[in-house]
Amino acid sequence: MKIICIGRNYAAHAAELKNEVPKEPVVFLKPETALLPKNHPFFYPDHTNDLHFEVELVVRISRLGKHIDEKFAPKYYKEIGIGIDFTARDVQQACKEKGLPWEKAKGFDHSAPVGKKFIPIESFRDPKSIQFSLQKNGETVQRGDSSLMLFNIDQIIAYVSQFYTLKIGDLIFTGTPAGVGPVVKGDVLDAYIGDQKLLHVAIK
Ligand code: MG
Repeated sequence: MKIICIGRNYAAHAAELKNEVPKEPVVFLKPETALLPKNHPFFYPDHTNDLHFEVELVVRISRLGKHIDEKFAPKYYKEIGIGIDFTARDVQQACKEKGLPWEKAKGFDHSAPVGKKFIPIESFRDPKSIQFSLQKNGETVQRGDSSLMLFNIDQIIAYVSQFYTLKIGDLIFTGTPAGVGPVVKGDVLDAYIGDQKLLHVAIK
C-alpha cells in the first residue's frame, strides 16, 4: 500500500507557514513503513529537533482505479479516519531552501500514525463538512472542518489518480488545518473526529 499526502490544503495553514495558496494540489508520498504499528510506541526521531504534529482526515481507498473522474470519486472510498502527518519541520525547511524533495522530513518511520477505526461515510450528517481536532496534553491545538479544504476529497482523488493507480487500502492524508506546532518527549496527542477519540500517540 501507499500513503498519498496533500499539502497546503487549508488556506489558514498555508498562511501560517508563509506558503502560497496552491492552484493545484501539492502532493507527496510516505512509504508503508511510515505507519505506526498497533501498540508500538512513538519515539522522537533522532534526525530532527523540531518535530511538528499535523492532524488530518484520512481517506481509505476501497476500489482499484486510475484516471478517476471527480464525479465517480465517491465510488472509491467508503470510510474516513484520522491521522497525524508528523513533520520534521527543520529538515523540511532545509529541503525547501535547497529545492530538494521532502521525504526525509515527511516519510520517516512512524511519521503517519492512523486512528484505530475508520468511520463509514454514510454515518456523517454532512460528509462535506466533517469536524476534526487534535489535543496536545489535553488542550485543543488544532480544529478542522473538511468544508474548508481548498481541494475536496473527490477533487483530490481525481487529481492524484492521474499519476498514481489507487489500490484498495491506500491512504490519502488530506491536509492539515492551522495550528500545527512542535512536540517534545512526554507530550501526548489525541485526535478526534467530532467527539470520537480515534487516535492516541504518546511521544517517547
Ligand atoms: Mg500535512
